Amino acid sequence: MKRQHIFGPVSSRRLGCSLGIDLVPCKICTYNCVYCECGATTHRTTRREIFFPVKELYAELTEFLSSSPLLDYITFSGSGEPTLSLSIGAVIRFLKDNYPSYRVAVLTNGSLLSDPDVRRALLPADVVLPTLSTVVKQTFLKIHRPDHGISLERMLEGLVQFRKEYSGEIWLEVFIITGINTSDEELAGLRKILKDINPDRVQLNTLDRPGTEEWVLPATRKELDRVETMLDFATAEKVELFPHRTMKTLYAIDPVEQICEILKRRPCTVDDIVSATGLRTIEVVKILRDMAATTDLMTKREARGLFYYFRD
Ligand code: SF4
Repeated sequence: MKRQHIFGPVSSRRLGCSLGIDLVPCKICTYNCVYCECGATTHRTTRREIFFPVKELYAELTEFLSSSPLLDYITFSGSGEPTLSLSIGAVIRFLKDNYPSYRVAVLTNGSLLSDPDVRRALLPADVVLPTLSTVVKQTFLKIHRPDHGISLERMLEGLVQFRKEYSGEIWLEVFIITGINTSDEELAGLRKILKDINPDRVQLNTLDRPGTEEWVLPATRKELDRVETMLDFATAEKVELFPHRTMKTLYAIDPVEQICEILKRRPCTVDDIVSATGLRTIEVVKILRDMAATTDLMTKREARGLFYYFRD
């Protein structure tokens, strides 16, 4: 069966061996973040929709999970904001009802948590990973370039309210951009709101792949250490930037298809692909060379190495 709505499993920096679910077409989002590794948002909206018949996804999940693969998480992620999908609650319930041994994670920008329907839809998930980069309106607009229907105040209220209603784990991502949200004032504001949100973990993240805007620079380890100290939150941790995980098992997926799926969603170095797929370096290099000759695969050199990507 051709897989359209699930991808991977990939080795995720935050979630280990993760099967991805993509509920939203590329690239529909409530934000157009300057650091987005999926490229610029082509349709910015707050309107929730059903983007495809959910039966298609259930068929793909049933086929893939029938062999009981070893996974750390099944993760709602992909190339847009997953809570824009009106199907997300039903799909989480489908997974918990039919595959209760798997942990379900939702990567969200958190912008729609002010909507009670969205909060209710996420309740059965094991882990929700929202993003919060600032409590300063100008900085919020500069980093996330949200749809006009999004307000920072409502987003923050939604996060605080979600904590009250949700009994699973919240791992809050704080995305750090050097010189943009790293001033003492910015970090003092974040430190204050963290107490209200009370996440189970705070994960400090920074640019790891080419972002949408060239001027976005990754924070250094020293800067992240400073941010960690300033936030003064017991469970704050830096997302490991250069993991070398081994996949728990090898999956019978065509490696070319697997690499295409990954690169369609985000730029990667050869090492990233090796880490995400468990393939050998020599295999990945050969596949990329063939792809470069036959597709519109592109490359871009960044501090961390040569990134391969597809752009529309
Ligand atoms: S980083 Fe996430 S929230 Fe921001 S534009 Fe990309 S997909 Fe949307």
